[in-house]
Amino acid sequence: MTTGFYWDERCFWHGGGNYAMTLPVGGLVQPLPGGLPETPETKRRLVNLMRVTGLERHLSMRGAEPATEEDLLRVHPGSYLREFREVSAQGGGELGLRAPFGPGGYEIAALSAGLARAAVFDVLRGQVNNAYALCRPPGHHCLPEYPNGFCLLANIAIAIEAALDEGLAERIAVLDWDVHHGNGTEAIFYDRADVLTISLHQEHNYPLDSGEAADRGAGAGLGANMNIPLPPGTGHRGYLAAFERLVAPALKGFRPDAIIVACGFDASAVDPLSRMLAGAQTFREMTAHSRALAEDLCGGRLALVHEGGYSEVHVPFCGHAVLEALSDAPVTAPDPLAETINARQPGPCHDRMVENLISDLEDLFGSA
Ligand code: ZN
Repeated sequence: MTTGFYWDERCFWHGGGNYAMTLPVGGLVQPLPGGLPETPETKRRLVNLMRVTGLERHLSMRGAEPATEEDLLRVHPGSYLREFREVSAQGGGELGLRAPFGPGGYEIAALSAGLARAAVFDVLRGQVNNAYALCRPPGHHCLPEYPNGFCLLANIAIAIEAALDEGLAERIAVLDWDVHHGNGTEAIFYDRADVLTISLHQEHNYPLDSGEAADRGAGAGLGANMNIPLPPGTGHRGYLAAFERLVAPALKGFRPDAIIVACGFDASAVDPLSRMLAGAQTFREMTAHSRALAEDLCGGRLALVHEGGYSEVHVPFCGHAVLEALSDAPVTAPDPLAETINARQPGPCHDRMVENLISDLEDLFGSA
């Protein structure tokens, strides 16, 4: 049993922009030392925790080559890549919405996409049983020519297009449990029948104008896009119920050659950019379910790609739990917030609301 873990210190050097949380500094908005919530610390502290507990000894720690221009061009137009490269070489800037980058941002983003590609390729070639790519910058919001939501290149889409082009797979499913809607991945594959895109997200968080359950894909891709917008306050039970009753039937119906998870940890109960109540145990169980489904459907071929997650304290423990579940490593970093998060789980009123929502979505998706 080998779990590959793909990372690169240089991804932690990505930076740029002058923000206080998600607000541009200026006027009445005072500069904030941490700047954007998408900082390296969530990721660096995960790697540090893995070293302290010894989890890294259970994993195959790997690097990767940057995605090539040919890889990027399968998803992004040359005009966008040229502009990105030029602004990056001139010291950085911003081309879309809330996706700033510093000097060398282009090269770091290509490296981040390369980590995702390597994880997916190694899984598909059987070089590892499953994989985790600690990508930074993240990718799931990025549209072909419009970076947004901290995302500069569409990491997962780049990996998928390269894998399909190489003939390593014919059908791939993407399960996005980042708390925000995976609008970029959805848009790129919206009219495609060979890539199933599923997004579990807090409704009307980010982006504000996407992620509706009625958006089911178009043309040949009709039915191959599934949005599961969950109400604020959804916790462990709600996430697991949505997984079992909506996500699992969709994956079984699609019969993918591989499953890729857009793994954000921002549904955490203490995340500053969402209002959900997941704990490390939620991510651990969703990972275990994904692994079991991958084993049933596609020889265990499962790759997780890091997306959001902004609690510098909690993300490392959530990530550690996911990696333990992927690799069969012993539990060595229990969630220090588990007791608090368990006590905050929603009561019967919210449970009924989520139950009704899931039943309605079962009808809509035909999965009941
Ligand atoms: Zn997110």
